[in-house]
Amino acid sequence: MSQYPGARGLAFKEALLWERGRKGRVGISLPERDVPRSELDAGLVGDKPELPELSEVDVVRHYTRLSTWNFGVDTGTYPLGSCTMKYNPKVNERTAGLPGFANLHPMMPEDCVQGALKLMYELERDLLEITGMHAASLQPSAGAQGELAGMLMIHAYHAHKGKQRHKILMPSTAHGTNPASAALCGYVPVPVQLSPDGVVTPEAIRQVMDEETAGIMITNPNTLGIFERHIAEIAEIIHEKGGLVYGDGANLNALMGYADVEKMGIDVMHVNVHKTLSTPHGGGGPGAGPVVARDVLEPFLPVPRVKKDGDRYSLSSDAPLSIGRLHSFFGSFAVLVRALAYTRTLGKRLKDVTEMAVLNANYVKAELKDAYNLPFPQPSMHECVFNDALQHKQGVTTLDIAKRLIDFGYHPPTVYFPLVVDGALMIEPTETESKADLDGFVEALKTIAEEAGTNPEAVTNTPQNTAVIRPDEVLAARKLILRGEMPR
Ligand SMILES: *Cc1c(COP(=O)(O)O)cnc(C)c1O
Repeated sequence: MSQYPGARGLAFKEALLWERGRKGRVGISLPERDVPRSELDAGLVGDKPELPELSEVDVVRHYTRLSTWNFGVDTGTYPLGSCTMKYNPKVNERTAGLPGFANLHPMMPEDCVQGALKLMYELERDLLEITGMHAASLQPSAGAQGELAGMLMIHAYHAHKGKQRHKILMPSTAHGTNPASAALCGYVPVPVQLSPDGVVTPEAIRQVMDEETAGIMITNPNTLGIFERHIAEIAEIIHEKGGLVYGDGANLNALMGYADVEKMGIDVMHVNVHKTLSTPHGGGGPGAGPVVARDVLEPFLPVPRVKKDGDRYSLSSDAPLSIGRLHSFFGSFAVLVRALAYTRTLGKRLKDVTEMAVLNANYVKAELKDAYNLPFPQPSMHECVFNDALQHKQGVTTLDIAKRLIDFGYHPPTVYFPLVVDGALMIEPTETESKADLDGFVEALKTIAEEAGTNPEAVTNTPQNTAVIRPDEVLAARKLILRGEMPR
């Protein structure tokens, strides 16, 4: 018996609803009508949309079977680098679902929602304590929107000083959303190359920083999982030339309880609460990306912000220099509830989260260092990056390795990112995986490395244990089928 969680068996094929439907099948049984047909009814029947005709059990089985094709953090290890796909404690869900939170309406008067406002205020305090920053806004609804907020704040800061700048420094490890956020503000990203040990150096920054440059967007630890150890000196160079430092805080689970973001010289940073502070976020959301800022940038924070006056909480938009609103109402409130449930459950033990995340990544890195090529072998923070350099000689690529892993019951890691590593396999085990889970994952990857050496086809012709083998990855986008052929 293998110790892998993957198996085969009651994994169903599933036809499209169009193919399952049969003329005349219905999902409801109503008594015969004993009143005349109305004109309105007649009209509706005339324009009946062409939908598949199905029974109730057809529909229930279809969607239930499709749901078994899904994989999530509640199914198993999900080591998707950069995404922090960790297990989310159910107490967060229970808390977010409490009627007092779940049934709130965003237009209720402030007097009736003091508890919700207090919760937001307290979460701000926690984020400030975790990061060491001065002020926060919970408005942004995702990490990427937090980046946009931060860049708009930097833009507004330069405008307020009377001289706009047009460039922004962008290390080559940057997440794709970074240059996109900068470009949305009209800034041209200027690439910064890494040193051979995978970090940005003060020398590299000195060469490109000038008074036309608004600042830098930097992720720490970077997307190679390596701590940017020159960050304070880099920030000094940027500040000397009148620029500002944007910190991408998606990797905060490597810093909590250990590093003070303000002391690193960062001026504004977003926090992916749906990654670091646990909210299920597969499938794209919902999330939240609060921004925290140093005092010089506080006036520019998005509004409304929560204010506390004695025992009373209110929302204030009274900030003439603010970049304004990012959307209607207050942001992804239920995600904020989960985040506070998480910080308050763990308290000072958030430090243990950091320790476990870093330990787990380094364990995986050490266990796999002989089986896979490690472009940056020094110790990691919360994630590590391998590539397919050893397997490539046998014609086995990163994509093959990722697909084969599915056969063993593991979700693949992030592949082909960060872009600075050819054929990257980026593994973020997260702190919630036990040693036993990690051992199974490591064993599966070692087996795949062995197969690649002795029997490459066992890896390239995969996955074999799934309902769908290798879908054409662009066909669905190129050839949309919006309308089916109903069998008669
Ligand atoms: C996830 C991530 C982002 C974007 O955050 P979203 O919440 O997905 O918009 C930005 N930077 C890094 C490094 C990330 O990992």
